[in-house]
Amino acid sequence: MKPIQCPRCWQAMDNSDRLESHLQASPVCDIKEKIMIEGFDKKQEEKLKSRKRNHQNQTEEQRWKELYNILFPEDNEQDIPSPCTPNIYVLPYKY
Ligand SMILES: [Zn+2]
Repeated sequence: MKPIQCPRCWQAMDNSDRLESHLQASPVCDIKEKIMIEGFDKKQEEKLKSRKRNHQNQTEEQRWKELYNILFPEDNEQDIPSPCTPNIYVLPYKY
């Protein structure tokens, strides 16, 4: 899932309920230039940290796929770029 953002001020929201009450708040937020969220959120960060424990028996490719799945859970496995391609360097800027 892509992060939910307010269409006026582009603030990140945890869920659509949050966004709804944010949009109904008074005074309403200021319209700002669109900012796309970069990188990953807190939950993903925690997953990335916790996955370090079971690294022992994984190959580089398995680790890479696991990392990729955490960052982009909506992507299919066949869409995961090879860890050898330069794509790895642009990963955090996909959003
Ligand atoms: Zn807003």
